Amino acid sequence: MQTEIFSYNDEQFADLQMLRYKVDGFEQLSISRKKLIYYLSEAALSGRDILWDQNGKYNLLIRKTLESIYTDYTGNRESEEFKAFTVYLKRVWFSNGIHHHYGCEKFKPEFSKTFFLEAFRNLPADKLPLENGQTAEELCKMLVTIIFCPEVMPKRVNQTDGEDLVTTSSCNYYGEGLTQAEAESFYNTMKQENNTHPVMYGMNSRLVKNGEKTVEKVWKSGGLYGAAIDRIVYWLEKAANTAENKKQAEVINKLIEFYRTGDLRTFDEYTILWVQETEALVDFTNGFTETYGDPLGLKASWEGYVNFKDTEATARAEKLSANAQWFEDHSPVDERFKKQTCRGVSAKVIKAAILGGDLYPASAIGINLPNSNWVRAEYGSKSVTIGNLTEAYNKAAHGNGFHQEFVVDEETIQMLEQYQDICDDLHTDLHECLGHGSGKLLPGIDSDALKSYGSTIEEARADLFGLYYLADPKLTELELTPNAEAYKAQYYSYMMNGLLTQMVRIEPGQDIEEAHMRNRALIAHWAYEHGAKEHITELIQRNGKTYIRIHDYEKLRQLFGVLLREIQRIKSEGDYIAARKLVEQYGVKNDLKLHREILMRYQALHLSPYKGFINPVYTPIYDEEGEIIDVKVTYGEKYDAQMLRYSRDYATLPYINE
Ligand code: ZN
Repeated sequence: MQTEIFSYNDEQFADLQMLRYKVDGFEQLSISRKKLIYYLSEAALSGRDILWDQNGKYNLLIRKTLESIYTDYTGNRESEEFKAFTVYLKRVWFSNGIHHHYGCEKFKPEFSKTFFLEAFRNLPADKLPLENGQTAEELCKMLVTIIFCPEVMPKRVNQTDGEDLVTTSSCNYYGEGLTQAEAESFYNTMKQENNTHPVMYGMNSRLVKNGEKTVEKVWKSGGLYGAAIDRIVYWLEKAANTAENKKQAEVINKLIEFYRTGDLRTFDEYTILWVQETEALVDFTNGFTETYGDPLGLKASWEGYVNFKDTEATARAEKLSANAQWFEDHSPVDERFKKQTCRGVSAKVIKAAILGGDLYPASAIGINLPNSNWVRAEYGSKSVTIGNLTEAYNKAAHGNGFHQEFVVDEETIQMLEQYQDICDDLHTDLHECLGHGSGKLLPGIDSDALKSYGSTIEEARADLFGLYYLADPKLTELELTPNAEAYKAQYYSYMMNGLLTQMVRIEPGQDIEEAHMRNRALIAHWAYEHGAKEHITELIQRNGKTYIRIHDYEKLRQLFGVLLREIQRIKSEGDYIAARKLVEQYGVKNDLKLHREILMRYQALHLSPYKGFINPVYTPIYDEEGEIIDVKVTYGEKYDAQMLRYSRDYATLPYINE
């Protein structure tokens, strides 16, 4: 028998680095838990096509065409053109569509139109995604326009202030011809006044024009995406029969009911059951979850993942949760915006077993759900940090020269080497377990009042909560930080990232679009500007290179406290004007000259700003009766092989979904 050699780093292309993560402890699980993970994993992979279609109307069509060229191209596979084509396809795979997963801009192909036309025309007809009587030439013409014309579908999510965000975004959440004003008025009339338990309006549908009327096409069994949903339900049913306890079976069955009916009240019932099920070792998310991909923040992208608890590391997060009320009471925010009773902040460290939908291949490392404000307020939320993904990031980044290039001096480098990993984990815990769960809205405030600025403000709130408390003596008292100095590592890397190095993720001249990045820029620029007079932090120049130096960490902490107070006020009062001003002033723009400098320094290191994960492979072993008697996990699959396999085995939807 061969032993697999495990490597965290895999291939690198464009601005991307593929990593692998290890699912230590899977082999030791009981057979029934292994089966449960296997069934839930299949459910998590079965929704893949939904996300592709949500990200853009033509994505599935394009994916099929590109994959056919990739597998069947008979020309010179060593040519520069074919190599450029391969990079393009790998980027499309990574983004689940033709737009950058983070920046949202459409990819610019580095191969020529001539190459594409020749490759396309040499494909046999049965390799082409032809539907509804379309001819190969018609399809070809259409694809050339979508792939090569920069003005066609330029952005997946457009957040530019003042523009019609619906008509200018090419995500597939709103039908053709529908305007932002029409979409907003549709949902405004739906939101009844004084409804204390509103459903997540619009979360599971595409909004389209039907003649003069505006209607929702609901994503459910028998509705839009019905075929994919039925496949998910098939695996969920098996999972329900293998559940660890009665409550977990109820959770899964309620989710199935939601998928069948599309009823958002059922969805709320499901999330309440899910939040309350905290006994089982194995847990999962499967469904329409995050709204970052919708410029109006209503429509939820499909995602799925499966995990099991890391008992040891969870003890750390539990310490924070056990003290949730203390943190709430001592935070610098106005008393009116604090929660009188902080409850249900369940926090744990988990190991991801599979990533699917909007968590694959690029994944979050901390997740806090559900997103419904009233469910969170009344039932709490589940908060997780994904330990084995963080581990993979850290292992892969060790000794890559990044600190040597961007950190101001050797002393600070040493500090980061010593404390950064531990502080990073802790900041994620604080952000997820306490930050998102803290504070409250004033009565009568619409949870969507901050509109397109809502996500950025919410992330800033959680980050600031974490930053503020990372420096608190309470953490040393709880033995979570090794000493009273360790937090400085996080303060330094946070400021460096927000002011300088996160720019490596953006093309020169482009604005910051993504909510988490906007939040980091906002906090860092605000703190820098407000601390300038007192010399709290300073940008210095050395040999044409810019560095951040922090002169007074204590005062920086006070600044974070002041900003946390203001951000909580904005959220609690639904102060849209103030949210917009803060985000636009501090969170959106990059200084072009500085941006170029950072990019040049970064490129010299040959690192990738974005990382994503190749999933492990689970193989069930059957006995003669067809019963699963074991599930094997292996890690060797290559990126392209995995993507092609998923496209083959989990193809559930037509190429165009209307
Ligand atoms: Zn967050």
